[in-house]
Amino acid sequence: APLVAFAGISKTYGNGTLALDDVSFSIAGGVIHAICGENGAGKSTLMKILFGLEQPSSGAVLLDGKAVAITSPRVAAGQGIGMVHQHFSLVPSLSVTENIVLGQEPRRGAFIDRAAARQRVVDLAQRYNLLVDPDAVVRTLSVAAQQKVEILKALSRDVRVLILDEPTAVLTPPETDELFERLRDLRAAGLTILFISHKLREVRALASHVTVLRAGRLVGDAPLDAIEDDA
Ligand code: ADP
Ligand code: ADP
Repeated sequence: APLVAFAGISKTYGNGTLALDDVSFSIAGGVIHAICGENGAGKSTLMKILFGLEQPSSGAVLLDGKAVAITSPRVAAGQGIGMVHQHFSLVPSLSVTENIVLGQEPRRGAFIDRAAARQRVVDLAQRYNLLVDPDAVVRTLSVAAQQKVEILKALSRDVRVLILDEPTAVLTPPETDELFERLRDLRAAGLTILFISHKLREVRALASHVTVLRAGRLVGDAPLDAIEDDA
């Protein structure tokens, strides 16, 4: 069974907007898979459903072939699904280490070995070549560095699927190139990368599979070498 399958997903928001209309496709494990489409196509809604931030009005999400009710981000995290938001979820006044490991400890710092927490961040950063100063206060970091912290935060929770919502929107071209190198490394390390983009050039540079949404409907789903240049 594929790692992730969307089976007949529809989503109508409370105000009547039909954001997704009977969308079905699957994502193989260990690939970089792009979700492409114009603004309003339903890309974010679909990823929010996978991450437990929204519930489908109908249809199911299958993980390893089994329907899973992803009712909250906590459930998603328990299934190994992590998300890098377009607007980061970091606390600006806290350090990199505090954002990555301390905030998720059950006892909020009371009995935590801070040196060990810092070392975990250093190890994680080295393993994935996402180098950041573990002691820097997040507010003082560049946007690109904050994005690395956001990715490390997801990796610190044993993700197998990493969702990135328009990750290049805030980056310069060299920063984009570096992010793509890191995402290729993560894929090589066995992760599945799901990446939202509306730029076909980026999709072609990074992804091996692409799903195209338009106005809430699936209009294309293929390995990338099947997509024509003028698509
Ligand atoms: P994309 O990520 O492709 O830009 P979205 O999933 O954000 O698309 O939006 C799909 C449609 O759903 C759009 O028409 C958008 O305005 C609408 N929409 C998104 N979120 C909400 C919401 N919370 N409430 C109502 N409508 C929403
Ligand atoms: P992101 O791109 O980080 O997912 P958005 O700017 O798309 O964030 O959305 C911010 C919040 O506003 C989300 O909770 C989303 O559900 C909501 N939202 C987005 N579009 C609409 C809409 N058309 N109507 C109502 N709420 C919306």
